Amino acid sequence: MHEWTLLDAAKAVRDKEISSRELTRALLSRIERINPKINAYVTVLPEAAMREAAARDEEIARGIVRGPLHGVPVAIKDIFCTKGIRTTCASRILKDFDPPYDATVVERIRSAGAVLLGKQNMDEFAMGSSTEMSCFGPVLNPWATDRIPGGSSGGTAAAVAAGTCFAGVGTDTGGSIRQPASLCGVVGMKPTYGRVSRYGMIAFASSLDQGGPIARTVPDAAAVLSVIAGYDRRDSTSVDVPVPDYVAATERGVKGMRVGLPREYFAEGVDDSVRTAVTKALTSLISLGAEAVEISLPHTGYALSTYYIIAPAEASSNLARYDGVRYGYRAAGAKGLIEMMSRTRAEGFGEEVKRRVMIGTYALSAGYYDAYYGKAQKVRTLLRRDFNEAFDHVDVILTPTAPTPAFRVGEKVDDPLTMYLSDIYTIPANLAGIPGISVPCGMSPDGLPIGAQLLGKHFDEESLLAAAAVIEREIPLPRVAPLEG
Ligand code: GLN
Repeated sequence: MHEWTLLDAAKAVRDKEISSRELTRALLSRIERINPKINAYVTVLPEAAMREAAARDEEIARGIVRGPLHGVPVAIKDIFCTKGIRTTCASRILKDFDPPYDATVVERIRSAGAVLLGKQNMDEFAMGSSTEMSCFGPVLNPWATDRIPGGSSGGTAAAVAAGTCFAGVGTDTGGSIRQPASLCGVVGMKPTYGRVSRYGMIAFASSLDQGGPIARTVPDAAAVLSVIAGYDRRDSTSVDVPVPDYVAATERGVKGMRVGLPREYFAEGVDDSVRTAVTKALTSLISLGAEAVEISLPHTGYALSTYYIIAPAEASSNLARYDGVRYGYRAAGAKGLIEMMSRTRAEGFGEEVKRRVMIGTYALSAGYYDAYYGKAQKVRTLLRRDFNEAFDHVDVILTPTAPTPAFRVGEKVDDPLTMYLSDIYTIPANLAGIPGISVPCGMSPDGLPIGAQLLGKHFDEESLLAAAAVIEREIPLPRVAPLEG
């Protein structure tokens, strides 16, 4: 049952072939067996999930179907506020935080009928590319437990790949949905900035953060996106444009689609196995009628440095609210306010978070603002312009999602710069605000998943889903990791 697609599971519940309770019970027992091996969940909600499942079954019996996820067990990254359910962002500073409200994403998946199994592990405050920076300990890759799952939504990607939920919702500020999806052999989409409400999604870098689906198939990801996308007046950057039928878009095909191949993304540093797999993805698109076009995105080389000014700058400002006064952890026994605040933050934040706060504070300091932050904003405009010009000639852009398959646990924790390089192909989309998807397209010689990334025009998630679905159909791959148990 745990290998079913989300869409099949939803249909089975609607057709009364299986009850939501049976489905939920099966996944909860799978979590119990599998999760100790991968540490993908930080909170599991067995009683609440069974209660919700029973309520969904009762509705079915009365002919009520709430929405496309009715009765289907899913889970979310522990960055989305859940009313009365601990929301930690994998940080000591929020370890006992019970939000007084649900994030819009949570409201929407609930009103679509989904059953919430639990909250998933992540890098602290979504800063990281390996899910090793969590106060709950690292997540392990279900395909090879000596490897990391990618990050920061590594708990969600690993949980989906391990068949412990039918889909999940993650967040992506510089690649945190797409990169772990690639490394765990599942589908992950970062929608256009403004597509999915950020209300109740704990902020890292507000001009880059975007929530999106992680699932085992492209149509499943499309189904979740349809539910979570759409205007929300509680997020001032939410954009009021209609939400199309994303599931239908997965059937469109790619006849006549122009696929751009950016020269800069296929340069040095790409692992051979990744190059081979992405080439196969391209071949499959061409065999179904797409046309390859070589393009250039000339400012690509500046994306990483630009991101590592803008993201920490916004983070240092967003994280100023964790001061021990209003909520979260407070250091005990301090003499006076300043000591309380500084000890709260020293004890509550992990090393990577402190590094980002220091970089951001420095970059925003008087005297450095123009040299760093101001300049980074200008380069951001150039990067966006690169994409706009490219999209005059192509419909989508194909690249690797990550330069290598999953690396070993511990391999990069002590070397932040090498860790940052994991996101070299994903970060430009966040800076430009455009949508991106990662879809599995091969396996490395040692059996590790590899993903292809497709980037699209603002609000054209449909073309990405159409192309990704073709790659998925043309390159059949196992979707549930072969963890015993
Ligand atoms: N790995 C990148 C970082 O550490 C991106 C993280 C993300 O997308 N949340 O900032």
